[in-house]
Amino acid sequence: MDPKLFGLKPEEVGREVTFVTPCYLIVHPRGTLIWEAGQVPDQDIPDDGTEVVEQGLLKAKRRLAPQLAALGYQPKDITFVAMSHYHADHTANANMFAGSTWIVQQAEYDAMFGDGKLSIRSPDTYVELKGAKRITLSNEDHDVFGDGTVIIKTAPGHTPGHQMLFLKLTRFGPLLLSGDLYHLPEERTLDRVPTFDFDAAMTRQTRVKTEKFLQQTGATMWIQHDPPTYARLKKSPQYYD
Ligand SMILES: [Zn+2]
Repeated sequence: MDPKLFGLKPEEVGREVTFVTPCYLIVHPRGTLIWEAGQVPDQDIPDDGTEVVEQGLLKAKRRLAPQLAALGYQPKDITFVAMSHYHADHTANANMFAGSTWIVQQAEYDAMFGDGKLSIRSPDTYVELKGAKRITLSNEDHDVFGDGTVIIKTAPGHTPGHQMLFLKLTRFGPLLLSGDLYHLPEERTLDRVPTFDFDAAMTRQTRVKTEKFLQQTGATMWIQHDPPTYARLKKSPQYYD
């Protein structure tokens, strides 16, 4: 990736910019939530372990469904599906969860199914969500299981209805999954906004609010796309609780 896309000069980053795009399975006594749906659809990934590259950029060599199966879950068992936003690197396997209840902001829904010409959108990957049961939010937070431990947080700016996920884990403590509020840690430390954000002023507003929230809650934030963050985290079948 070109650091300029994120408002940064190459020397301000000082390394090659690559991303990871993780999916997260949240398991709660009242159900499950899949957060993000990956960047390459399972059906495009060979099952012999070789890597597929789409649009010259999106790579994968492991399918999502077998990783869920290894944990004892079929897509139809997943209660809720939510993505931080509609960009193609977050929606690849969204159709797989059309039997789940989809949690989405109204503004994002309108962007996903509207006629407007939007970049980085792959409607084929999420079209089946149109028929899914849906919880539609109006620029608001949502307590997914009703006990305050799993909260969808409205965070518009990157896209019209971008959202983040806040978790209150018993042992790990409070954790915020950033979505694409930030991609690179330098966006945060040097106060830069990606050139392709839907509304840069809105992103800045959301960031101010989020930094306050992090201070108030003492939460850790994982920048989802950041490879150094990803590298030091436990991965499935290991977990945080
Ligand atoms: Zn992304």
